[in-house]
Amino acid sequence: LQGYVGFANLPNQVHRKSVKKGFNFTIMVVGESGLGKSTLVNTLFNAPLYPPKDHVGLSEESPKTVGIQVLNTDIEENGVRLKLNVVDTPGFGDFINNEERPLAQGAYIEFMKRLHNKVNLIPVIAKSDTMTNEEVAAFKERILLDIAHHKIKIYHAQHYDCDDQETINETKDVMSKIPFAIVGSDKAVETSDGRVVRGRSYPWGTIEVDNEEHCDFVKLRQMLIRTHMEELREFTNDIQYENYRTEKLVGLGY
Ligand code: GDP
Ligand code: MG
Repeated sequence: LQGYVGFANLPNQVHRKSVKKGFNFTIMVVGESGLGKSTLVNTLFNAPLYPPKDHVGLSEESPKTVGIQVLNTDIEENGVRLKLNVVDTPGFGDFINNEERPLAQGAYIEFMKRLHNKVNLIPVIAKSDTMTNEEVAAFKERILLDIAHHKIKIYHAQHYDCDDQETINETKDVMSKIPFAIVGSDKAVETSDGRVVRGRSYPWGTIEVDNEEHCDFVKLRQMLIRTHMEELREFTNDIQYENYRTEKLVGLGY
């Protein structure tokens, strides 16, 4: 199994001082309950940050948490400390008229519009193993059209101060997968040719999380954790915070 998460290559990206102290990274996952949010976080960090529900002792009848939950955890890799904050929004969208799914977008669009100047939005398609390749392609197109139509700003990876063509191509390749079609699984399964992988088994075969032919998980992780984590953090701190302040000042009549 993939033994490491990959943020330890950050010394290339971050100043030495903050590497020693450890650095903060905050992710918020949004979507209705059962969509696969907790599984995705576990899969990204290769650790059971969210233990299975029956281990927590929640019965099926227990009321769903609809409040925001924040989980803080320290992960260390090759001497680099990552203070990871995961903001879970259990149940967002649960109260939307389910008849209209996946067109329960009215609320998602409003939500994204409220957030797009405050955070880096990265759209993903959950459980892409339940869709055919054609359905995934069509869904991606629809999402991008909606995002453009509603003028929603999603995160665009930059490659400034980089004139290395290989990096530029890599970044373009990652960006071309947005919205990332994701399969999450924190379980090991065996493939028909005897390999043990993270994936999901079906009567007709196994979908592998870490296989780029099967889904975009590897690309999402690459961007989020291995190559653009520092840029994502800087963008939120410097630019988005400035936007937020400007908005507040304007609101105050300055
Ligand atoms: P959350 O409520 O959004 O946090 O959803 P969970 O992560 O708890 O997942 C809900 C259910 O969906 C669990 O039974 C997971 O095993 C399953 N699940 C999670 N990710 C995937 C996926 O990529 N594909 C499929 N088919 N099922 C998934
Ligand atoms: Mg959850």
